Amino acid sequence: MQIIIYRGTKEIGGTLVELKTGGSRILIDAGYPLFLNNKPIEDEISLYPYDKLLEVGVLPNIKGLYGWDLPGFDAVIISHAHIDHYGLLHYIHPTIPVYLSKGTRKIIDISALFMLSAQPPTGTCEFTMYKPFQIGVFRIMPFLMDHSAFDAAAFEISDNEKTIIYTGDFRGHGRKAVCLDRFIDKAKKGADALLTEGTMFGRQDDEVMTEQELEDRLVKKIKDFKGPVLFQSSSQNIDRLVSFYRTASRLDRVFVVDVYTANVLYELRQLGNNHLPYPSREYPNIKVFYPYRLTQKIFNKIGEEYAKRFSPFYLPKDKLKKEQNNIVMAVRPSMRMDIEITGLKNGLFVYSLWRGYCDSEYQKEFENYLDRSGFTADVLHTSGHATVTDIRRVITVLEPKQVIPIHTMVPDSFIGLSENVALKEDGKAFNI
Ligand SMILES: [Zn+2]
Ligand SMILES: [Zn+2]
Repeated sequence: MQIIIYRGTKEIGGTLVELKTGGSRILIDAGYPLFLNNKPIEDEISLYPYDKLLEVGVLPNIKGLYGWDLPGFDAVIISHAHIDHYGLLHYIHPTIPVYLSKGTRKIIDISALFMLSAQPPTGTCEFTMYKPFQIGVFRIMPFLMDHSAFDAAAFEISDNEKTIIYTGDFRGHGRKAVCLDRFIDKAKKGADALLTEGTMFGRQDDEVMTEQELEDRLVKKIKDFKGPVLFQSSSQNIDRLVSFYRTASRLDRVFVVDVYTANVLYELRQLGNNHLPYPSREYPNIKVFYPYRLTQKIFNKIGEEYAKRFSPFYLPKDKLKKEQNNIVMAVRPSMRMDIEITGLKNGLFVYSLWRGYCDSEYQKEFENYLDRSGFTADVLHTSGHATVTDIRRVITVLEPKQVIPIHTMVPDSFIGLSENVALKEDGKAFNI
């Protein structure tokens, strides 16, 4: 089996891995990079035409993959709905099938819908966790993983002779930690290669608590607090939304989500197989806030049903103002004017994202505004990625013949973890 890691041997994000054997050729993940020339990638680069993207290296030079080429891949398989794993799907040749899980597909679709961006080709090829599927000579077994993206997968991929395991992004301290145990238990032992993420190497100073510990800390922090509690997290980090929802429930506060977050929870809950809280009669303490600009956008461009479906749970601004001391509410910088008009004041603002994201001017302006309105700022976050302890656990139990670091800034750090570490170069083919 021949493997080419096009991006990720020395960086976090933008993952693309090609596997080729016996006439079959597949790509695992089609990630948009988070970095370009060792600096965080600038937003406007995504607007470049494709020839420019090829030139600067956002699109690696891969024959037979893109829409302007003759198709030469049997499939593209996406591990989870983070842009650094699926963000290049737009460029894939339309006749190449794209395989993803139901939850991953739903999140990609809803993101495109609300961002008014073109729908990437998410096709109809869905895989089900723990059910192997065949592409040419490849047999692919997806494992549900614990990660900050909903319904994320790892893959065990075999041809007739060799087996590789690709962890995707994962962790062992979220609400689905049991999935990591199950993966370690069920995945093949002694595989020919393990491609494992190593995001946390180099970030070891970040505090890693479980989602449950984060929830307990929130409860402790808010318990005796009199005033509105606002928090900023990703609307797609479902584990985190659940932590704030549970905190609100434990403290008899109303959990307020904006209409976009409400739609994310609603759509995922409709997939079945989960008990996610969402605005409904079943969860009377969840109310929906309609930010002005977003609501206009829904009515004018997205489709009014996405707003109207929550009208029984609508929380008007005057009521929100009156009940502000009894809320836990999801906010974003784009809701600044709504918060001002509503008159939320003298509360607590919890920033619950990775600190690396909080530098933008827009973010600073938002936080300065909250500060002027009497909000105390706090940070409470835990990583979506595996601790070194959990990575070691995966390697120790799976005993792969080769450990290949990916999705890491410091691949050398793996060397102490196993005698079988094999460092690779971006774009260079190797055989196992
Ligand atoms: Zn990633
Ligand atoms: Zn991820």
